Amino acid sequence: MIIGKSKRELEKMRASGRLVGLVLSHLRTLVQPGVTTMEIDRIAEKMIRDAGALPTFKGYNGFPYSICASVNEQIVHGFPSNYTLKEGDIFSIDCGVTLEGFVGDTATTVPVGKVDEDKLKLVRVTEECLERAIQQCRVGNHLGDIGWAVQQHAEANGYSVVRDYVGHGIGRRMHEDPQIPNYGKPGLGPKIKAGYVFAVEPMVNQGTHFTKVLADGWTVVTLDGKPSAHAEHTIAITEDGPEVLTLVSSTAQLEPAVI
Ligand code: MG
Ligand code: MG
Repeated sequence: MIIGKSKRELEKMRASGRLVGLVLSHLRTLVQPGVTTMEIDRIAEKMIRDAGALPTFKGYNGFPYSICASVNEQIVHGFPSNYTLKEGDIFSIDCGVTLEGFVGDTATTVPVGKVDEDKLKLVRVTEECLERAIQQCRVGNHLGDIGWAVQQHAEANGYSVVRDYVGHGIGRRMHEDPQIPNYGKPGLGPKIKAGYVFAVEPMVNQGTHFTKVLADGWTVVTLDGKPSAHAEHTIAITEDGPEVLTLVSSTAQLEPAVI
């Protein structure tokens, strides 16, 4: 069942979305060659807790960290580690916060130092897929319109979309109905209504869409070892159109009161 949010609940989701958006935009600025993914995780957790929130991922089904840290051929759910980011990597950071009982969820893929044009294009197209998906998050559209927007743009650029992992409704729980695949057919699936809140998250692969999970039981990688990129926003559907709750301006910062 898709849970619509009241005005009051939407206010809370704006706050959790803004917080996780601010955390992620700060983490982006820390990414450079020589930094370990564990250092990024530690900073994320401190920022979230200092703001009076909880890192939603930590302990979620036993996941041990505050961010998912997925490098190059890793698609999603990678463990932060003592891996040192290298020039030419692409680094996906996925982060969730729970603030006053409501969850915000967002992800981005960051080029590390100077990155080859083919990987930069993969990152750019993935962001464009998310933009196009957001534009479909409108009252009266169908869920299939979202997946279709992602799939057709990814495939038009010679990429594939991951089938095994999907976006989701979000609210008091990180994963609510409906599942939001990154593929689909226009006009199919449930109608989108005002008050729904979706976490839309294209996972776009340079090669095959097939995936496998590493021995840690979490890290998802491309079956062919080619790179993958991920981008995610939490989006509220309003009568006036999509409202991206996790989008913050690049100059926005946590107010001193919450730091
Ligand atoms: Mg996420
Ligand atoms: Mg998500």
